[in-house]
Amino acid sequence: MECQEARPLLLDYQRGQLTPARHDEVRAHLERCARCAREEAAERALTNLVERNLPQYPAPLALKRRLAAHWPAPGVARHSWWSGWRRALAPAVALAAVLVAGVSLLDIERVIWRPSDAPGALVTEAVNDHLRLLQSEHPLEIESGGIHQVKPWFAGRLDFAPIVGFEGDADFPLRGGAVGYFLDRKAAVFVYSRRLHSVSLFVFRADGLPWPTRGLQRIGGVDASVKVARGFSVILWRSGELGYALVSDLGSRELVELASKF
Ligand SMILES: [Zn+2]
Repeated sequence: MECQEARPLLLDYQRGQLTPARHDEVRAHLERCARCAREEAAERALTNLVERNLPQYPAPLALKRRLAAHWPAPGVARHSWWSGWRRALAPAVALAAVLVAGVSLLDIERVIWRPSDAPGALVTEAVNDHLRLLQSEHPLEIESGGIHQVKPWFAGRLDFAPIVGFEGDADFPLRGGAVGYFLDRKAAVFVYSRRLHSVSLFVFRADGLPWPTRGLQRIGGVDASVKVARGFSVILWRSGELGYALVSDLGSRELVELASKF
């Protein structure tokens, strides 16, 4: 594998989204190519800076991708180790400055994100992630042959085991799954369908998120928040250490029917 082939794969490499064969090819390249290894380290440093040091204002994934796009392209002039690092970290420092200054991410992500409106941020994120999935060319990384194929597929791709008690039925067949992000953390994504509608279920670690506490509705043994935003129904709940976000353009009533199956 050559540099120009390896560079665009670095993000997916870090997220464990490559096929095992592809993953090994990238790793082999990084072991023998110092420049790509630096690029990979800078990528990881930015992610760590944003996700660990600034947990109170997680940056949207789209913003991180945009910052990553500003990094040195392969084939540009050579730099010393340190100048490479300085350049790579500059966008992260700029981002930190924006966040510390309390500037709303409204203009950047065109979503409303204010700490005071925190529970609403979960709804917004769920709708955005669902839309991102619908717009993706290959939304499913594993096509469903049933939950017994989809669930084991996540092993090694996530740092938690997604617990999903509904394997799909004639009304809501399971179409497949993917690894995604929910705010600052990895998520298991399960995609169901209902007639021509797509339904996304995001499962992720629940800790440290502004879960709604008011106006909850009892659904199948858990207290859930049912909201409508931008024409989408969103149901949020947590169970143990895991958080769940169910999103669709189905009406709330039908989505509650599905949520009760979990
Ligand atoms: Zn290289």
